[in-house]
Amino acid sequence: MKGLQPALFLDRDGVVNREIGYLYKPEQVEFTAGIFELCRYAQARSYKLIIITNQSGIARQLYSEADFHSLMQWMSEEFLRARIRVDGYYFCPHHPEHGIGPYRKECKDRKPQPGMLLQASRDHGIDLARSVLVGDRCSDIQAGAAAGISNLVLLRGTEPAGCAAVPAHAVVSDLAEIIPFLTVSSVPA
Ligand SMILES: [Mg+2]
Repeated sequence: MKGLQPALFLDRDGVVNREIGYLYKPEQVEFTAGIFELCRYAQARSYKLIIITNQSGIARQLYSEADFHSLMQWMSEEFLRARIRVDGYYFCPHHPEHGIGPYRKECKDRKPQPGMLLQASRDHGIDLARSVLVGDRCSDIQAGAAAGISNLVLLRGTEPAGCAAVPAHAVVSDLAEIIPFLTVSSVPA
């Protein structure tokens, strides 16, 4: 559609950084090999860069929303040092069973639901059909499919059995393998 831009949607834990479970401090972050190169390549081709992350650690009160935002601030600065602008990040702090108090609820944003992706597409003028989503869990791929993203990529590792029951997706072992999915060369003004 005219005026809309594609996006590279990235799950955070397990894609941007190594998954260690309920990470919330900068010293816990180990960036995934190739993440900055992938993002710079996408940004140069006018893909928006959007991070989409379930944060049940907030629901479980292992850390606060403020802790989450300060980590994301730090992470955005690390990206800037690598000459990458993160256009936005979205998180779901809820969990249907393990959430404490108001954080215990079914939420249209929690992946595999597509709420965060749909919100990001409205906020940033994103063409979902031309966008690429990278996740390390089947629920990431399911959310992308439900949002109408056609290029869905599972980064091998977190789901040892793969995601056979999930809509069509590619599987890669290395972030460098995602480059060929970024096929937009430029976006008309
Ligand atoms: Mg993940």
